[in-house]
Amino acid sequence: MIIDCHGHYTTAPKALEDWRNRQIAGIKNPAEMPKVSELKISDDDLRETIEANQLKLMRERGSDLTIFSPRASFMAHHIGDFNVSSTWAAICNELCYRVSQLFPDNFVPAAMLPQSPGVDPKTCIPELERCVKEYGNVGINLNPDPSGGHWTSPPLTDRHWYPIYEKMVEYDIPAMIHVSTSCNACFHTTGAHYLNADTTAFMQCLEGNLFKDFPTLKFLIPHGGGAAPYHWGRFRGLADMMKKPSLDEHLLNNIYFDTCVYHQPGIDLLTNVIPVKNILFASEMIGAVRGKDPYTGHYFDDTKRYIDGAKTLSADDRLAIYEGNARRVFPRLDAQLKAKGK
Ligand SMILES: [Zn+2]
Repeated sequence: MIIDCHGHYTTAPKALEDWRNRQIAGIKNPAEMPKVSELKISDDDLRETIEANQLKLMRERGSDLTIFSPRASFMAHHIGDFNVSSTWAAICNELCYRVSQLFPDNFVPAAMLPQSPGVDPKTCIPELERCVKEYGNVGINLNPDPSGGHWTSPPLTDRHWYPIYEKMVEYDIPAMIHVSTSCNACFHTTGAHYLNADTTAFMQCLEGNLFKDFPTLKFLIPHGGGAAPYHWGRFRGLADMMKKPSLDEHLLNNIYFDTCVYHQPGIDLLTNVIPVKNILFASEMIGAVRGKDPYTGHYFDDTKRYIDGAKTLSADDRLAIYEGNARRVFPRLDAQLKAKGK
């Protein structure tokens, strides 16, 4: 089985975006604030958007199951207050849940959280619980920067975030550390802010001792880990200077990287530098980079080609990257699959 651990509902029906725009207008003018019940999306609408897009590409490219969360750039936690985020997160999570019900063999949901700048993360717990208990979510996306590019929250190692981690440990769910839209003109959302955040999250963990407090906590750092694998020597050297244990011991029992790196040399580097046990297959299609690579004639985000093309990987390594590691990092997914005899 090939599990893609990083998919977003980027192709949701237009009605969702229209509703969100009305919600944003309603922040300034409460008379315009739409009711949740005014958003009408039928099962046929959902089927159509999935079958013509993600599912079609999964079949063409050969992946079986996608861990599916709301569109990351649309989380936009910086917009409005906690209530705005809370209503929005509930709507988006419900849609991903409905997709997972319509296509139970192909999609499993992961939740966005109703984060809001300056608001205690423990306010996210009710939505997190609902998504795990009622919707069968197997993971969450945790935004380390709800301000959208201004970095006003404490680092991920700060006790500020502990209420979320306590719930993650209780439910045995990992978090993908995933920012949203940048509202800082210096940082392009998917070209800079995402990769900055991946690198920043990794370095925060390196500097701290978070996994001493939470030995079973698991973070998935997307987009191939940002700059972390490329600069592994720098990070190893910094750990040494800070008198930290080796990165293997300090971070690699808790931190994992996905394969959303959109060219062969990048995947070759990732798989040469990072132990196979810490790499999970992902494509993040249909996402940041939607075109075809003129050098290869294939879509940039068809990442399975790069895993298949990585010369140093053995058959067992590929099995781990495609399936085994995801089942280990997402124990609730593993349990759901086992219950289906898979
Ligand atoms: Zn993403």
